[in-house]
Amino acid sequence: AKSDGRNTYCFYAPEQDAHSEERFTLLQKLRSAVANKDFELYYQPIIDLHTGRTASVEALLRWPQSDGSMIGPDKFIPLAESAGVINTLGSWVIAQACLFCASQRERGHSDLRIAVNISALQFNDGMLKSYVEEALATAKLPPEALELELTESLFLNESSAILQQLSALTDMGITISIDDFGTGYSNLAYLRKFNASTLKIDRSFIHPLTSDDNDVPLVQAMITMASSLGMHTIAEGIEDEATKQMLIEMGCQLGQGYHWSKPLNEQEITDKLRN
Ligand code: C2E
Ligand code: CA
Ligand code: CA
Ligand code: CA
Repeated sequence: AKSDGRNTYCFYAPEQDAHSEERFTLLQKLRSAVANKDFELYYQPIIDLHTGRTASVEALLRWPQSDGSMIGPDKFIPLAESAGVINTLGSWVIAQACLFCASQRERGHSDLRIAVNISALQFNDGMLKSYVEEALATAKLPPEALELELTESLFLNESSAILQQLSALTDMGITISIDDFGTGYSNLAYLRKFNASTLKIDRSFIHPLTSDDNDVPLVQAMITMASSLGMHTIAEGIEDEATKQMLIEMGCQLGQGYHWSKPLNEQEITDKLRN
């Protein structure tokens, strides 16, 4: 903007400065929040569509503010990545989620599993496996209880370091799901080599699903293809009974969405799981 000449600069600069100042302040706040672990995990049930039981819960991160509001992960996860604090934050999430799952298992939900979102950058420092091992050991949780949700974009660059780290995790007994499936550019045949056990169909295909929806053949194809590769499917964002019924008829095993529950805080989900 500076090279555009004095008038242009004067016209645009205040706004840009305000913007980057706001970002800078938010970054400072985020760094200290990460240092102080000022975050909260919410949990959303993932339902077995046939039995209606809660098969697992997905941990979803929230950043509580002093005024009582919450900043959502879509806003601060990218910031945490660019600030270089995603590994510190991410390892805290893994540890907390494992402790939560272990405590629910002790309360009687003995086969409950926990799904944790992992950002692509968390793979880059090569420490993920050791964070996971430590979290499982501390919580005394078997590896089979943990599913890591990875987005399609992680799989696009086929680096051997990533492949190695993935197979080290699956060799331990941890399962991998491919999150937001359908929003990227890859195909399932390609994704097969990554050993994922579950495909999560992105909510943009799911809600709403009616019989004349163009998404129906797409969703059907994803479910059929996943199942022919020996993978389960989870449909995200189910908000109504009709959509749920259609997905059952299409052969989808698992579902998640406001139809059952929004993400809940630890007390709320504990109460819900008790019933
Ligand atoms: P995601 O993994 O696709 O998570 C699902 C998002 O959909 C969640 O938003 C959830 O609240 C929302 N959702 C669930 N059911 C419904 C529904 O029926 N209708 C609608 N409209 N929305 C529904 P949330 O919690 O805001 O999370 C947004 C994204 O932030 C997540 O998308 C995930 O990519 C990321 N994220 C959340 N927690 C973490 C974390 O601990 N680590 C990392 N790396 N990313 C995280
Ligand atoms: Ca997810
Ligand atoms: Ca999604
Ligand atoms: Ca649709």
